[in-house]
Amino acid sequence: MRMTDVGVMQNFMRMCNDGWLQGYHERNGGNLTYRLPQADVALMRPLLAPVPGTWTPLHVCAPNLAGEYFITTGSGKYMRNVLLDPEGCLGVVEINPQGDSYRIVWGLANGGRPTSEFPSHFLNHSVRKAATGGAHHMIYHAHPVNLIALTYILPLTDRAFTRALWQSATECPVVFPGGVGVVPWMVPGGAEIALATSKLMEIYDAVVWAHHGLFVSGVDFDDTFGLMHTIEKSAEIYLKVLSSGQPVRQTITDDNLRAIARDFGVTLREALLGE
Ligand SMILES: [Zn+2]
Repeated sequence: MRMTDVGVMQNFMRMCNDGWLQGYHERNGGNLTYRLPQADVALMRPLLAPVPGTWTPLHVCAPNLAGEYFITTGSGKYMRNVLLDPEGCLGVVEINPQGDSYRIVWGLANGGRPTSEFPSHFLNHSVRKAATGGAHHMIYHAHPVNLIALTYILPLTDRAFTRALWQSATECPVVFPGGVGVVPWMVPGGAEIALATSKLMEIYDAVVWAHHGLFVSGVDFDDTFGLMHTIEKSAEIYLKVLSSGQPVRQTITDDNLRAIARDFGVTLREALLGE
């Protein structure tokens, strides 16, 4: 068996390509990480490099991720190329017992490194692992066009974005009843945006980066890709309505949203409702 025959690796590769096909990943835009369940680590162990790479400091620390393994996209790699060259574009990394460094144990061939957003992903994995009792395994960052466009015209608040998205597609309050957080524009790749995002990820599983893109977390591939896809589709509907030049005659009201929540058994973040 090769690494690319392992089920989770196949799912990871497929999701990278799905994002490319959706137009989320121009050039080397976007990144994806998956915290491997122990059973998959055991499955992969005979396929890992006999001599792992050297430990590299992350400059952030997460003791609850000590000893974990992640699949990650590579820095400067293109989602478009993942299916053609998984071993060059992707890697498996191991976290040290202190939870502050990583080493490459498979892939990222020819001197590749994990995504430049790996410290951001790492902190957010830590927060989401704690917040969900270990249920969430994925962090996905993409550049969905319509959502980014909305960051130029909506107020950069959790409330404004959540309400616009909830009102633009009836499935939205069911798919993300907790709403979405928003961080203002920041330089990507650094500690500041990592900390701001992880603070919001304590309560949200989706965080908008103004003029840049979206970060989501999820349980598995379907859940995580589905969240990205649903949010972007809702943003597209909202933007098309705004672009139509027609006045909005009707929308999904707050009481409609509450009715959806009641019938589907989800709890909306009530603070985001009401005038
Ligand atoms: Zn980005």
